[in-house]
Amino acid sequence: MIANGMTYVQGKFVSILGAARSGMAAAELLSRHGAQVLVSEYGTISGEKKNELSGWGVSWEEGGHTARVVESDFVVVSPGVPSLSAPVVSAKENGRPVYSEIELASWFCKAPIVAITGSNGKTTTTELIGHIFRKSNRTTWVCGNVGTPFSGICDQCEASDVVVLEVSSFQLDHIQQFRPSVSILLNITPDHLDRYQYQFEKYAESKMRICENQTSSDTIIFNVDDKYLNDRLSNASKNGPDQYSISINGPVVKGGYFDRNTLFLSVDQQEEKLMYVDELALRGRHNVYNSLAAAVAARVMEVRSDVVRESLRTFAGVPHRLEYVREVEGIRYVNDSKATNVNAVWFALESFSEPVVLIAGGRDKGNDYASLKPLVTSRVRALITIGEAAEKMDQELGPCVEDSVIAESLEDAVRLAHLLAKPGDVVLLSPACASFDMFDSYEHRGDLFRQAVSNL
Ligand code: ADP
Repeated sequence: MIANGMTYVQGKFVSILGAARSGMAAAELLSRHGAQVLVSEYGTISGEKKNELSGWGVSWEEGGHTARVVESDFVVVSPGVPSLSAPVVSAKENGRPVYSEIELASWFCKAPIVAITGSNGKTTTTELIGHIFRKSNRTTWVCGNVGTPFSGICDQCEASDVVVLEVSSFQLDHIQQFRPSVSILLNITPDHLDRYQYQFEKYAESKMRICENQTSSDTIIFNVDDKYLNDRLSNASKNGPDQYSISINGPVVKGGYFDRNTLFLSVDQQEEKLMYVDELALRGRHNVYNSLAAAVAARVMEVRSDVVRESLRTFAGVPHRLEYVREVEGIRYVNDSKATNVNAVWFALESFSEPVVLIAGGRDKGNDYASLKPLVTSRVRALITIGEAAEKMDQELGPCVEDSVIAESLEDAVRLAHLLAKPGDVVLLSPACASFDMFDSYEHRGDLFRQAVSNL
């Protein structure tokens, strides 16, 4: 919380790399606070966006980045622009600070920020926490990766509100003062390695930055069952944030845990039984972690336990995350299009006891599918692969199942899955890959899956 952003930006010349959602929101924010702004886009900018930018008095360039970017007082980089791309590197070489959009937005924010990061579960946990705060009647702004960019709301919230912010590693790559009141680290497993020179440590380091500016008056909540997080955080530093941990492997001293089918909280030196696991609206082991993290965050921010409990019971879920679609001839169809990495698929498979016909594949991000082999062997009846990764997945995981097939399209995959599944099975779209080889986004992929299922 700094909230004097105006003094940082007024009269400055600022370039924004990328004209997607967060870049546009940053442009509007900066222009409103007296900066001279250039939006620089590698691809093309739509006519509609150009009109909007002109309306705000923002100039733009497209089809590449010119030397004007390097002349800026500072540069705001969109999460889609790689840290090693030419304009970012040359801005830095020329001594121009490069900030992410959440860094910029945080300069304007008076409200406490609950920031959530991790390789998987960010959106679910963010929405869950938003739901709890809304139920507690606190004015709540849910933003970040999850939809509305932080820049779009940062100067509208009051000190008594709460901002619940989903944060990606790309946003953390370029922070300087960003300091959440509560930070949550759900898990760190390999993802996006193509953006981190295929080095897990680099990716993990960028996630850890979520707490780098926190002090003893702030809080960090982390998953102690995650080996990397446990190794990194178990020796708390004296001046660092107050630490709370979550675990599904039994009691923790301070935080939240799962034991004997029950969720317990231990916040403010009081141990309380929160609820039975069957009462949670969200199914699956991974959602126990997400629910524990959300519950601890809400309790630390003084939401009453009965409100937390009621919220966890009533949460409607988030589309494209283990979303039940329909049952056809005794076969249930589940859309987990958001499972864009290997670990998410692991948790998805783990949450079904029935045989699964798995549809997977797409754009490979440097994945290693070996960790899926035991679960694929025990739970998957048939594997249908699609997209650029189809052959690699088929070769690695095909030998673990009765039937494995490469499909030409998602529609084909759904038709094949229906033929290979038996009544009582689950057909699960859980790709382990990005969607951009065949679709506009994971939402597009999930929507087409739903459509194909409704055509059966
Ligand atoms: P993110 O925003 O981090 O991508 P989501 O909440 O959108 O996370 O979930 C992405 C995928 O990861 C979904 O397929 C979901 O089933 C799975 N998932 C959700 N929470 C977790 C978790 N805590 N650990 C592992 N996988 C998870």
